[in-house]
Amino acid sequence: MPSVVRVAVAAPVGELLDYLRPASGNVTPGMRVLVPLGRGQRVGMVAAVNQPTDLPSARLKRIAAVLDPAPLLTPADLSFLLWASEYYRGDPGEAVFGALPARLRRAQPLLDDRPLGWRSRAGAVAEPPDLRRAPRQGAVLALLTAAPQGLTDAAVRTALGDCSGPLRALAARGLVERCRLDAPAAAAVTQLPQPEPPPSLNEHQADAEAVVAASQGFSSFLLDGVTGSGKTEVYLRLIARVLRAGRQVLVLVPEIGLTPQLRERFARRVPAPMAVLHSALADTDRERAWRAAAAGEARLLLGTRSAVFTPLPQLGLVIVDEEHDLSLKQQEGFRYSARDLAVRRAQQAGCPVVLGSATPALETLHNARNGRYRHLRLPERAGRAVDPEILLADIRAQPLETGLSHALLTRMEREIDAGNQVLLFLNRRGFSPVLTCHDCGWVSECTRCDARMTLHRGRAILVCHHCGLEHRQPVQCPYCESPDLRPLGQGTERVEDTLRQRFPGLPLARIDRDSTRRRGELERLLMAAARGEHRILLGTQMLAKGHHLPGVTLVGILDLDHGLYGSDFRATERMAQLLVQVAGRAGRAERPGTVLLQTRHPQHPMLQLLLRDGYGAFATAALAEREEANLPPFSHQAMLRADSPKEQAALDFLLQALAAARPLAPPDVELWGPAPAQMERRAGRIRAQLLLQAPTRALLQGVLAPLLPALRALKPPRELRWSVDVDPQESL
Ligand SMILES: [Zn+2]
Ligand SMILES: [Zn+2]
Repeated sequence: MPSVVRVAVAAPVGELLDYLRPASGNVTPGMRVLVPLGRGQRVGMVAAVNQPTDLPSARLKRIAAVLDPAPLLTPADLSFLLWASEYYRGDPGEAVFGALPARLRRAQPLLDDRPLGWRSRAGAVAEPPDLRRAPRQGAVLALLTAAPQGLTDAAVRTALGDCSGPLRALAARGLVERCRLDAPAAAAVTQLPQPEPPPSLNEHQADAEAVVAASQGFSSFLLDGVTGSGKTEVYLRLIARVLRAGRQVLVLVPEIGLTPQLRERFARRVPAPMAVLHSALADTDRERAWRAAAAGEARLLLGTRSAVFTPLPQLGLVIVDEEHDLSLKQQEGFRYSARDLAVRRAQQAGCPVVLGSATPALETLHNARNGRYRHLRLPERAGRAVDPEILLADIRAQPLETGLSHALLTRMEREIDAGNQVLLFLNRRGFSPVLTCHDCGWVSECTRCDARMTLHRGRAILVCHHCGLEHRQPVQCPYCESPDLRPLGQGTERVEDTLRQRFPGLPLARIDRDSTRRRGELERLLMAAARGEHRILLGTQMLAKGHHLPGVTLVGILDLDHGLYGSDFRATERMAQLLVQVAGRAGRAERPGTVLLQTRHPQHPMLQLLLRDGYGAFATAALAEREEANLPPFSHQAMLRADSPKEQAALDFLLQALAAARPLAPPDVELWGPAPAQMERRAGRIRAQLLLQAPTRALLQGVLAPLLPALRALKPPRELRWSVDVDPQESL
């Protein structure tokens, strides 16, 4: 039986593939190779060598080339990635290559940052030629022979002027060669010489820090701290401690949370080299940061979701900030939860992991309450800040001015007159969510999705926020040709219009995805807002995250009602998290703040509970509801999704999946569906889903393990796409 090399190939093949050793050269796990696949060649990552195989020798192909002189990943890195791909039922190649910097996903060599130069090979030539008739060449050769380590182009030019002609001639004679010069690599890490001294901690912060610091080996902590309670300060103390002990630290933050202010704050305080990884970095910068972390040169890695896969050979602490944030879950391709993988990573490294939030996910709270995680609380705002007062404005049967109630406008005027800032939150961008014909009732529906197209009046277009389809804003009804078209409902653009009329000349900033398209624009607006330059801030979810806006004394929330009766079972949890996060923007400094929430359901019991007793009490009730309904975290789910441009095709495929799953599923594993997705048509494709629900992870995995190969074997038609999502976070 031949022994083979097992390779994770960068292609959707669903499993590791077996190859024969290359004709020459050494292979070890963690090296990239080029392998034949089908009629072409693909990049692969060696996962294991000297493996037995069941394949007959005739079917085995040979590795075509080895791409790396040394492994890029350690055995521990590989085992973590392969574990993740197995748990999330992803493709091993997709998991492994998704974790590498973009250039390394292709057959490209590691970035070489050393400068190019020239060196002499005169010693390697048997007979030194006579250069008396080429004095320039003679001079260059003498210069290079005297500098055996080589010289940069610039150094040669400084000594002898432009020598490109003589250098080419010497190279052609084999007397000199182009080479890389050993020089320090360009910096991928930042470090300031003198870190700032830390401020003192309050009693709760000090207790939390001490508990984590005293832990031995792997343990998980939930740092449950109200907005403004100083979680970051606790992180920084823990980080400094772990760095002093000579180990590395991984800090994960949501995409929108990784602001220049946060980077600067860390850089000012962390007494060691730090690297930053996020999706907006150029490929080469990403690769440098990744390698600095993998080489142990960067001691702290601050990054978004995918940074969880970065090799950190001396990992001693993992922190996940805003652990409830949905952006920590990858929603397409390899669908993983960076928060859950962070816990696994810490377990593998034998170190503590700290999950921090003011509004922990119910899953995380459940783990804290059943003792799997240690629950650390920061119940007080740090400094002298006071909790904001939250008021409900019942807007049933109230006249509204573009969605703004009289109560809200009156309070706004009062705060503005007193010189304070007001923040208005509306999670809907554009001018209005629908355009309608007053004569025949036509509405602006997307032709490719089961959704309405949003009017963006600034650009005079209708846009579908689900598939991106754009149409010029019609001047007459496409149905009855009436010119009486009216916008229905409010988006941020429309509220901005109204506010500019109502408060003429008052500086106002609208902060949403449309107003912050240009790179750096969000930062610019937020910095100006923090300096108090804008008196009114109007925005979407982008404004809800942990930005420090000390001048804001009133937060107005225009509409969160969809969260009270949403069809996703997580809708209420999301609503509560958003409400608490937005409310946390008010009165962060010494000025007390007020939050005014407009609602048509002021008596809703969950809303009442949240406002009266806080997020913890809300979470207790919400967890009881979940337990009653046997929903996560009291059960475990996987969602099979399929879509196709053809009617019925997705449902048909999922019916086959159901038939394949039924005999594999023990009686307490429930199969729901298949059913049309909530948005059945999206971007011209008909979507359906099948839900698997089991009392334990092990039971769920026990069904998925044989089911996935069975589904691949079904060979669905080419236009059908399907995917599996383990621990799905959205049911759309
Ligand atoms: Zn009409
Ligand atoms: Zn659409």
